Amino acid sequence: MEPYFWWTEEQKEIAKKVETFADELFEEAEAYFWKKKFPWDLVKRVANEGYFGVGIPKQYGGLELGATGSCIVAEQLGRLYAVGHVFVVSMLAGLEQMLRFADEEQKEKWLPQLAKGDKLGAVCITEPFAGSDAANVMTTAKKDGDEWVINGKKRYITGAGVSDRYFIYAKTSDEKDIKKQYGHLTSFLVEKGTPGFHLEKINKLVGFDNVPNGYISFDEVRIPDQNRIGPVGKGWNVMMAGLNFERLIAGAVYVGTLKDIINILFWYTQRRVQFRRTTNQFPGIQNEIADIIAKYRMGRLFAYNTAKQLDDGLEPMIDASVAKWIISEYIRDAGLKAVQVMGGDGLTRFYPVERLVREGKIGEIVAGTTEVQKMIVYRFASMLPVYNQPMRMRWNDEVNAPVVSKKQSKFHGLEVNEENILKVIAHDYKVNPGLYMSPDDIKEDIGGSRSAIRKIVESLEEQNLVVTHRDRQGKMALVKATYEGLKKAFPREYYEWYPDWYDDADKF
Ligand SMILES: Cc1cc2nc3c(=O)[nH]c(=O)nc-3n(C[C@H](O)[C@H](O)[C@H](O)COP(=O)(O)OP(=O)(O)OC[C@H]3O[C@@H](n4cnc5c(N)ncnc54)[C@H](O)[C@@H]3O)c2cc1C
Repeated sequence: MEPYFWWTEEQKEIAKKVETFADELFEEAEAYFWKKKFPWDLVKRVANEGYFGVGIPKQYGGLELGATGSCIVAEQLGRLYAVGHVFVVSMLAGLEQMLRFADEEQKEKWLPQLAKGDKLGAVCITEPFAGSDAANVMTTAKKDGDEWVINGKKRYITGAGVSDRYFIYAKTSDEKDIKKQYGHLTSFLVEKGTPGFHLEKINKLVGFDNVPNGYISFDEVRIPDQNRIGPVGKGWNVMMAGLNFERLIAGAVYVGTLKDIINILFWYTQRRVQFRRTTNQFPGIQNEIADIIAKYRMGRLFAYNTAKQLDDGLEPMIDASVAKWIISEYIRDAGLKAVQVMGGDGLTRFYPVERLVREGKIGEIVAGTTEVQKMIVYRFASMLPVYNQPMRMRWNDEVNAPVVSKKQSKFHGLEVNEENILKVIAHDYKVNPGLYMSPDDIKEDIGGSRSAIRKIVESLEEQNLVVTHRDRQGKMALVKATYEGLKKAFPREYYEWYPDWYDDADKF
């Protein structure tokens, strides 16, 4: 396993150890695809090595190797498919949430159990009517003395049935105002065997071979208040805690499989002969393999870069979502390419290649869909100053063209009146013909106060010389000159522009 230069000696060491371990278990894990059974014995061997505790502090029985260590273990165990998925879910089943929200007594009770891995854990957010909109949980928890009574259903729960510990989110308030502030959820731990807590269904999925994934139901399930993690009404905050870590690991678990596929493709194409040549000699085949190698290297580097940021105490909101999104997309793409490289053989289940397409597709949905990751990336990036630097296009008379410029507007310092404001807005048509201006753009160009500019623009709008675009509250957000306004501000020639080569005879 190729280490990165910033890894510590401890991280390099665990990388070697877990790679050897995964190599040893590889054949048995492959055999489970034919056995169609949950690989309990392999999961137990992972537990014996202490890997479930990789991200858990030493004081609670863990290895305390941080996000990078967790990625290293996930990368290698992911090569064992079902084992990797169960490892990830069990490790993530409330780890960060407990570290940040549980009291000391709860930490001492649950974290050593989590680290040991002899009892698996599951995360239970999704419900029949709450998917991407995770706040819309309908499972209820009602306080009755020292106990909570839980009713409802959860679905798509990885590790359903085989897990002992279920980290759930339930609704503890129906009040509209509380809901608006995301104060209606509370998180709890429910243990297998609690009366009224049942496994309802196991899904038959296109991927996730051998991984039980299903529905669970709560019928008047009573749990002690001691199983509540975090304050009442803080379930949303608990859910959000550690999301970056979860998204990163959800991506990282796929990285190691890409390397195995590259191995298979080199091996296979050196032995497959068509048109009296081994297929690895065809440029098209080489391109496809090169593409998969690039995806493996980019996805891996990106994952470990995100892990380093987490270990340095940063919250890489954008990068964690990008890691989850691009790695699952890479897996699905690489899977399709690998199948193509192997032709019909790639489509049979006798080679572990078609599996990648199925796994990649699941990766694009599980732990927050790609669309949701993109939504997060867009929303956070749109608030970051680094992507929102002040920017203006200005007319450059020397080259007679609009250019990105930091210079002051030629209107700056003119009297702030209707005539000049209309000129500023009309001039903007010459520079950005399809765009509106914001009132702040106008202020920057000519000066004056915001309120004076708004009043003048409103008056110009009444005269039909400009049109405004208003936000949901009806506040003026943008403004543009009408054709009437353009005519009034400048002569027609002001807006004209032709390239040098354009013949005067063709102008009209
Ligand atoms: C194999 C597998 C394992 C899983 N394991 C677990 C688990 O262990 N625990 C758990 O709690 N959940 C688990 N899930 C559930 C998973 O997190 C959800 O499936 C996922 O969040 C999407 O929810 P949904 O399936 O209800 O789809 P929907 O939310 O109904 O989405 C349908 C489509 O609409 C799009 N969409 C929705 N909202 C928006 C929006 N605002 N903007 C743009 N597009 C939008 C989605 O991107 C998607 O393409 C698992 C799912 C699978 C398939």
